[in-house]
Amino acid sequence: PKADIGVTGLAVMGSNLARNFASKGFVTAVHNRSYSKTTALIDEHGGDGQFVPSESAADFVASLATPRKIIIMVKAGGPTDAVIDELSELLEPGDILIDGGNALFEDTIRREKAAREKGIHFVGCGISGGEEGALKGPSIMPGGSKEAYASLGPILEKISAHVDGEPCCTHIGTDGAGHFVKMVHNGIEYADMQLIAEAYDLLRRGAGMEPAEIAEVFAEWNRGDLDSFLIEITAEVLKQVDAETGKPFVDVVVDAAGMKGTGTWTVQTALTLGIPVTGIAESVFARGLSSSTKQRAGAGNLPGPSQPWSVKDRDAFVEDVRLALYASKIVAYAQGFDEIVAGAAQYDWEIDRGAVARIWRGGCIIRARFLNRITEAYADNPELASLLFAPFFTDVVSKGQDSWRRVVAGAAQSGIPTPVFASSLAYYDGLRTERLPAALIQGQRDFFGAHTYQRVDKEGTFHTLWSGDRSEIQEDGHTP
Ligand code: NDP
Repeated sequence: PKADIGVTGLAVMGSNLARNFASKGFVTAVHNRSYSKTTALIDEHGGDGQFVPSESAADFVASLATPRKIIIMVKAGGPTDAVIDELSELLEPGDILIDGGNALFEDTIRREKAAREKGIHFVGCGISGGEEGALKGPSIMPGGSKEAYASLGPILEKISAHVDGEPCCTHIGTDGAGHFVKMVHNGIEYADMQLIAEAYDLLRRGAGMEPAEIAEVFAEWNRGDLDSFLIEITAEVLKQVDAETGKPFVDVVVDAAGMKGTGTWTVQTALTLGIPVTGIAESVFARGLSSSTKQRAGAGNLPGPSQPWSVKDRDAFVEDVRLALYASKIVAYAQGFDEIVAGAAQYDWEIDRGAVARIWRGGCIIRARFLNRITEAYADNPELASLLFAPFFTDVVSKGQDSWRRVVAGAAQSGIPTPVFASSLAYYDGLRTERLPAALIQGQRDFFGAHTYQRVDKEGTFHTLWSGDRSEIQEDGHTP
């Protein structure tokens, strides 16, 4: 029989995805630039289902039922373009090319346009969940046309993770919308990971707890509101003991965090759109600081605070940190969803934020119990200006804010860096503040650059003659 779906690029992600399709009953065509990966997949996992291997791209394309559906799982960037070019020559109008790699959404917009001109549907598809997700059920964020989703969607939904019987896959929006939302997902993932790391640092250095004890705290948190994949694996990592030295695993790992760049994209895009994603930005910068080898090596003589932290009531402190983590996490999500709204406005996508939260509940790295609450918040009010305004989240933050403030203040006093806890609190307070000092900045801008300002008490644009008699003039042609 002709194959239902094809996968080209059979490294870890592609081969696992192909096995997932085959195990769900789809006849799966497989192809890789070097044929050895294709034969290895068939040798090792041919029993997972019905595979149709091909050595050449032409045979691969010919092995698929029309309209053909091909998922590209190769290295993002140039390799993706090379594969698209090769396949486009072989495809027919109406066929669907899917890029499941971590592409930059702007590349996806460009590729979709070029494919559309040839009559080919191009679906930029965010796939989250790593190797295991690809095999057992990832969270899938497809962009592209509605028409393409109509035939492709049911297949993707079947192999995606499921939560409460619902697939973790939905049509996000046209062209680059899927990769955009995947990008923001990764940014939130950075913030969530950094927040957890800050909480660990506070418990360790603030309360003097050992990694194994902190592992128990995280395991306990995982039974409550913070129930999530990242909290769960954190407990596992902290429990781990190095076989060679007998030391906690976290103590033998070099403290320089790596990154592949999707968090950076989230922040760059947010800067371009003018959206303050402070939690995500600080988490990217924190990884950068951790890898700033020269600066860190030279910092030995920088003085710290005169008094170390003395946590008197450990249980109360642990609860403070938990609440601070929860509140900061809500801020990171609120900011991420703000970026999605701004992206949708800029690129003309209709994105249902509640549906995005719904498909993040399973399969992906940021899967968490509290995503249900986000879906509910947007169902109650699809126009919600900030997630923080949803009654459930306002309540969480209001109950946690004293703890949050104690933790951030204590951390600052005792010299423990908490960039995401602290910046999230500053964002929260900035949002609540009725009169921001931005009025003074407007004054400064008008002073040195005649950038003008608006007044609180009347319409119009004004400028003060700072180097003259300091009288005010109205800029729009009217004299006051
Ligand atoms: P890699 O990113 O390591 O890419 C390797 C694959 O790309 C191989 O199949 C290789 O073929 C192929 N390839 C590289 N260059 C070319 C080229 N010029 N022409 C044709 N094929 C080429 O594989 P991964 O499985 O790690 O990731 C695949 C995609 O999925 C990437 O875009 C990555 O960013 C994304 N990803 C997503 C993750 C997630 O959690 N969602 C996790 C990891 C990756 P060959 O065997 O011939 O060298």
